[in-house]
Amino acid sequence: MSCIFCSIIAGEIPCHKIYESEFVIAFLDIGPVSTGHTLVLPKAHAENLETGSLADAERLMSAIYTIAPSILKAVGADGYNLGMNHGECAGQDVMHTHLHIMPRTNGIPRTFTKTHPSKEELAATAEAIRAELQKVG
Ligand code: AMP
Ligand code: ZN
Repeated sequence: MSCIFCSIIAGEIPCHKIYESEFVIAFLDIGPVSTGHTLVLPKAHAENLETGSLADAERLMSAIYTIAPSILKAVGADGYNLGMNHGECAGQDVMHTHLHIMPRTNGIPRTFTKTHPSKEELAATAEAIRAELQKVG
């Protein structure tokens, strides 16, 4: 089985990582709908939330609680959309459970259109988020 997110977790493919724990990893989406668009996923491969463990489902929400405020601070956002595409019918492209944190800012229209920032821009955003996360320990 080949899974791009498992390859990222294994370090075989680079990513702009912002957070990692024993069970969860979070990195920037390479096609962000807004600056700071982050994917949060369990390290254990499961195609969707319910084929994974309940513990991993709980860990995903814990990770959101931990990292979302720092993402908002780093990119100057006021809120966020949290999303999960569950199944091809819902638009799931990568068959490894993941949540999308999509920061939103007052006055900026919400869009789900992907953008294509440079590697340098993504790296700078990831660095800013990691710096905010470090402040809260
Ligand atoms: P979904 O449609 O929910 O399966 O979303 C998959 C997301 O993964 C999309 O928003 C892609 O832009 C994103 N994506 C695909 N490959 C990578 C990658 N190598 N690094 C970061 N994000 C990726
Ligand atoms: Zn996987």
